[in-house]
Amino acid sequence: MRIGGQEVDSDRLMTIVDPSTGAPIATVARGDAGHIDAAVAAARDTFESGVWRTKTPQERAAIMRRIVAAATDVADELVELELSANGATVRQATGFHIGYALAHFSYFADLAETYAWQRPAPIASFPALSQSVVHREPIGVVGAIAPWNFPLLLTLWKVGPALAAGNSVVVKPDEHTPLSILAFARIAEQNGLPPGVLNVVPGDGRDAGARLASHPDVGKIAFTGSTAVGREIMSLASGTVKHVTLELGGKGPSIVLDDADLDMAVDGVLYGCFVYSGQVCESGTRALVPEHLHDEFVRRLVDRAQTIVIGPTRDWDTDMGPVIDAKQQQRILDYVRGAVAEGATVALGGEALDRDGFWFQPTILTGVRNVMRIAQEEVFGPVLVVIPYTDSDHAVRIANDSEYGLAASIWSSDNARALDIAGRIQAGSVWINDAHQINCHVPFGGYKQSGLGRELGPDALDAYTEIKTVHLDLSGGRDAKPYDLLLSHADQGASR
Ligand code: NAD
Repeated sequence: MRIGGQEVDSDRLMTIVDPSTGAPIATVARGDAGHIDAAVAAARDTFESGVWRTKTPQERAAIMRRIVAAATDVADELVELELSANGATVRQATGFHIGYALAHFSYFADLAETYAWQRPAPIASFPALSQSVVHREPIGVVGAIAPWNFPLLLTLWKVGPALAAGNSVVVKPDEHTPLSILAFARIAEQNGLPPGVLNVVPGDGRDAGARLASHPDVGKIAFTGSTAVGREIMSLASGTVKHVTLELGGKGPSIVLDDADLDMAVDGVLYGCFVYSGQVCESGTRALVPEHLHDEFVRRLVDRAQTIVIGPTRDWDTDMGPVIDAKQQQRILDYVRGAVAEGATVALGGEALDRDGFWFQPTILTGVRNVMRIAQEEVFGPVLVVIPYTDSDHAVRIANDSEYGLAASIWSSDNARALDIAGRIQAGSVWINDAHQINCHVPFGGYKQSGLGRELGPDALDAYTEIKTVHLDLSGGRDAKPYDLLLSHADQGASR
């Protein structure tokens, strides 16, 4: 663990396993609620001391950029730490998991410099002349709870804006994947982040995570993970009325219109679903296809999906790696079997692979209706369902018939038509002729039960600041004030 600038050990350990082999690769201290208390106390001390909070935004940005430069120098080591614990392929870990993480952290440094820390309001003349200025101030101690799929990236989406705004932070990484954020926190302290500003406590969700979400000295909790745990976090945070940001699950539709470029749509739908073995919250896991194109589209999907190379994660030729663990592998299998029992047909895959580690075949299911569990619940594995639709109104109805609303894609050669449909989709991101377009310059997050609030984008720091309005009276004296709404004029009062 990293608490108050110290590496802290524990008698209780967690074993980190490489999902591509099933072999243990590291042991890490298993923090508990007591360690969370110590980390929150360290974060609170640094916040109150002002060692980070009172630096100018430019000073904070400069240190954050120095951290990015140092992390970039050892990017290959971070890639290895990330993929060895979460099973990403080396291509995905380099581009998405670590590449995006460092680029986005750098974006938050830029935001610190351009953010409107003070916004003067227009001078008011009623009820008396005055000027108000809206100040944005750090909240205090921010708690960040992250999942295993993009451990560093999704942690830095919280740590980046929190630090840019001057907060101190306690991170509770996922049980599978504490390695990259522990390394990052060490690099951060070696490059100018004062000790205790960024604390990392690996541990169990129900113990360490729950304590962080309910801790009275934590002013904000930012969480990415499943919708079920998101509900618990919200309820735990309600005890002290914390700020809450939630990035939760998804069941994204990929809507193929009848005028789509089918070569691009086939590759795009597969990319949208199978990248990182389908373990991306905003994956397009439901392909909605016009009835008359259904059979041809499925044939082309299946042909193309058969070219996906499954292999060692460190091999640059590998397209798809394992799933996170044996439990998730079994859960995916249960979902597929359940779908077949409900009437679905396996067009491709459908089975776990019999090799060391935790592998699952790219799987395509047809004969799926949107009411089926496989179309409503998040599988979090390489499983694509194909659902036919009659016309575009029908496609929009199916797309929106979900408790989730994180992301959607539309495949069409007619931009006006695609934009019209985009306007009718209930989702936080809609990509036209694209998928997985995570851009730090625009907000990311979900409608409905996919979350609360947004991460990234030009306003990302809003969620890590308190708003304080400071009012300055400019009236020039007692006579200009409206106090006679309550009090008689001072002279009259004195004479009575
Ligand atoms: P999870 O909800 O099981 O765990 C996420 C984190 O919460 C872990 O750190 C875990 O230890 C912690 N946790 C578990 N129970 C807790 C509790 N009671 N109190 C506090 N913390 C607790 O999710 P997961 O299996 O790690 O991740 C997969 C899920 O995350 C999927 O549903 C996926 O869609 C979602 N996800 C969403 C986004 C997004 O941005 N919307 C991104 C990635 C993943």
